Amino acid sequence: MIEIKDLHKSYKMGSNSLHVLKGINFKVEEGELVAIMGSSGSGKSTLLNILGMLDGADSGEYTLDGVPIKNLSETKAAQYRNKFLGFIFQSFNLINYKSALENVALPLYYQKVPRKERQEKAMKYLERVGLKPWADHLPSELSGGQKQRVAIARAMAAEPKVLLADEPTGALDSTTSYEVMDLIQKINDDGNTILVVTHEEDIAHMCKRIVHLKDGIIVEDKKIEQVRAEQYV
Ligand code: ADP
Ligand code: MG
Repeated sequence: MIEIKDLHKSYKMGSNSLHVLKGINFKVEEGELVAIMGSSGSGKSTLLNILGMLDGADSGEYTLDGVPIKNLSETKAAQYRNKFLGFIFQSFNLINYKSALENVALPLYYQKVPRKERQEKAMKYLERVGLKPWADHLPSELSGGQKQRVAIARAMAAEPKVLLADEPTGALDSTTSYEVMDLIQKINDDGNTILVVTHEEDIAHMCKRIVHLKDGIIVEDKKIEQVRAEQYV
């Protein structure tokens, strides 16, 4: 589903340059649930933004669902982004003056899905995250966990191939974090490929594979069974 080869990324600031990704290689198969771990500043968001086509790499290869992601026009990139990718952020990024249902329906509006179908799909995904009764509520009337569930429904509504979540539990207490991760696991069980950026060990352990970033490279990449087995020797 995702394949990256020797990915490099630097940020230029004046005459200085900060080399953040220094040759990243990895592959994600369809149906995986991968945690990308690393301390703050290790380049997790940079990597996720490149995978999400929100930013470009300086060099290296990126193939998404068989499509080489390189030198795409803005329009083409936006098209692929809409078709392939759903985003979940730490800060939910909901629109405050729109109801839960309207928030979920919004990406479908941009995809020019007709109104009735939009409403139906949005309601279907709100139901999947357990928030159908909250459809008419504004974000300010929802708890943090509920807001993130709305954001997850919104990410899923366009039926992307891959969900990318950047610290999805970063703004939540631990009980609520586990609830959100339970939901992410459930969505993954239904076949969705999901990448979760986190710096929290317990959150990473709720994924099926853990990739560790350090100083711009992958220093460890293990299936969860292997991580668990090593913990109990
Ligand atoms: P993480 O998500 O792991 O905390 P980031 O990918 O956000 O790390 O950032 C990696 C490094 O790149 C940090 O040192 C950060 O300050 C720097 N950085 C991130 N975005 C930019 C930017 N747009 N311009 C300059 N430096 C940036
Ligand atoms: Mg980050």
